[in-house]
Amino acid sequence: MSDGFPFSAVVGMEELRLGLVLNAVSPAIGGVLVRGEKGTAKSTMVRALAAILPDVAVVAGCRFSCDPADPDPSCPDGPHEAEAPSVTRAARLVELPVGASEDRLVGALDIERALTEGVKAYEPGLLAAAHRGVLYVDEVNLLHDHLVDLLLDAAALGTCYVERDGVSVRHAARFLLVGTMNPEEGELRPQLLDRFGLTVEAAAPRNAALRGEVVRRRLAYDDGPGRFAETWRAAEAGLAARIVAARALLPGVVLSDATLRQVASVCAAFDVDGLRADLVTARAAIAHAAWEGRGEVTAVDVRAAARLALPHRRRRQPFDAPQLDEEELDRALAGAGEDSGDDPGPDDDGPGGGEPEASHETTHGQGAPAPRTEAAPDPGPDGRPPGPAAEAPAQPRPGTAVARPPAAPGPVFRVRRLEIPGTGTGAAGRRSRARTDSGHVTGSRRPPDRAARIHVPATFAAAAPHQVARGRAPGGGLLLRPDDLRAARHEGRESNLVLFVVDASGSMAARARMGAVKGAVLSLLLDAYQRRDKVGMVTFRGGGAELALPPTFSVEAAAARLSALPTGGRTPLAAGLLRAGDLLRAERIRDPRRRPLLVLVTDGRATGGADPVASAHRAAAPLAAAGVHSVVVDCESGPVRLGLAAGLAQSLGGAVLRLEHLAAAPLADSVRVLREVA
Ligand SMILES: [Zn+2]
Repeated sequence: MSDGFPFSAVVGMEELRLGLVLNAVSPAIGGVLVRGEKGTAKSTMVRALAAILPDVAVVAGCRFSCDPADPDPSCPDGPHEAEAPSVTRAARLVELPVGASEDRLVGALDIERALTEGVKAYEPGLLAAAHRGVLYVDEVNLLHDHLVDLLLDAAALGTCYVERDGVSVRHAARFLLVGTMNPEEGELRPQLLDRFGLTVEAAAPRNAALRGEVVRRRLAYDDGPGRFAETWRAAEAGLAARIVAARALLPGVVLSDATLRQVASVCAAFDVDGLRADLVTARAAIAHAAWEGRGEVTAVDVRAAARLALPHRRRRQPFDAPQLDEEELDRALAGAGEDSGDDPGPDDDGPGGGEPEASHETTHGQGAPAPRTEAAPDPGPDGRPPGPAAEAPAQPRPGTAVARPPAAPGPVFRVRRLEIPGTGTGAAGRRSRARTDSGHVTGSRRPPDRAARIHVPATFAAAAPHQVARGRAPGGGLLLRPDDLRAARHEGRESNLVLFVVDASGSMAARARMGAVKGAVLSLLLDAYQRRDKVGMVTFRGGGAELALPPTFSVEAAAARLSALPTGGRTPLAAGLLRAGDLLRAERIRDPRRRPLLVLVTDGRATGGADPVASAHRAAAPLAAAGVHSVVVDCESGPVRLGLAAGLAQSLGGAVLRLEHLAAAPLADSVRVLREVA
């Protein structure tokens, strides 16, 4: 047994304990996402999980943990014989660091050996190590987008697939995915959120006695981890045995039609997307019954399952935090109970919906008239963008001062390309110059890593002069050595992160400029969409700055937020820049190769606090020092111009562009642009 902190010794955190245990009983539930502030022992508890999981039997010597009873037919270490010797080992918990490389996650195919020795050499990655165990991602919200995609593909297929230069490998990768995150550091992409079966909010206990107990156990553990583990050995063994017993019971647990209807009613009442929620809730309820030693699922099990399975699946404003109201849940369960046994038959649902099947369909289909739909302006027959948003609702946010109604965006136009100087290495796109995987080949070089694409003509050319010395026989094949390998050098364009920092203060609104400003930002957004950029938006006005839109590929979300943007109040420019700096720091961890372009839209007239203009310049300096490329769109107008935006651009080490000079072409062209986007 390991000397780690024992699972059963973690104080409180009952919801997290339950979420993890249910997945241990039934991995098909699909993992757990744990949200909570720092210092809640959530990571301690997750890391302690492996110790109470049942041991696994694996084929001896197989690096891919094949089950001797059912070996993976595509196992790179296989094929295994039916009588292959096996060993039993503890279940693994594998941690995926947020900064891991692609090779580390999916494994590395050695193209050098494939070309020079003709063997398919594959070094397994973390997905292989996690097969039949737990894959844990701490700070999962900061995980590189590219890794997220690979991880999701593997989790969905239960398979890891690697392909390079025509050589491919696949192996089974089924694991219990557990992620922890601190929501203050940014929310998770909605696509990833939905992939986790359950979510759990972790909080430090408020109760003084419990807090005391947390400290007491921690002190005892630090004093002697081995001795501490010894005192918890029996408790741990008890939990492990209970998991084994529940797994054995699981296949026989009965989910009656009435109870299944209760699951469906609760999911419908909470207005969740699709049917995945129903499936996960049913699976979790069955696991809960097995965990409690029951042969049949009851309302208690459904309630426990719904609390964990539904919060993150409710339809809500993009990027709002998942939550679930307990009283609402009880009402939904009670409501389902009343008419259980009967056809739930939606009443005001047109004629002819008599059959039970049909009514079941409506419960999840076009029924549930979605009272909480997004407050986005109606796109109209031509689709986006939202035209003059006369009816765009204001969406007042809690804590912000009352503002005048949002100004309607002015006309949209085609903007000139704003570009980041230098050569990047980001994902393919259409903005800044970059070395890319595609694009035209501009030369060759020694391969920087094993993932590099091999440039075959250059490799042959490098090998050619040495053929005689290497003893190539007449008519024999070319003799290649690893030193000969050359990788292609491509140049194309990359996409960037375009972060809009928008001044929504009174000084902008008073000059009736806000409409034109919104039109300009909308134009820049459409441009970003065409160039495959990621976009984000920070706004500042009144008391401070606000993250109006965390970085996303959804330009629709950005446009909706922009149309509804309230204006007025003072101009806390420094706060806006500081907020942007924080965001870019976090984003650099998440997506290090995506270069940011900061577009500051302001008249530069900072107000509020002591010496607001000087603080804005002070806030600009670290952005310039971090190498962030900025463009200040100067919105100043009127007869008296202070030219403050130009000064700010200087402090940012960037360029300044007058609002009027943003357009690349006459307005007639914008119609064509809009059509292309729609
Ligand atoms: Zn194998």
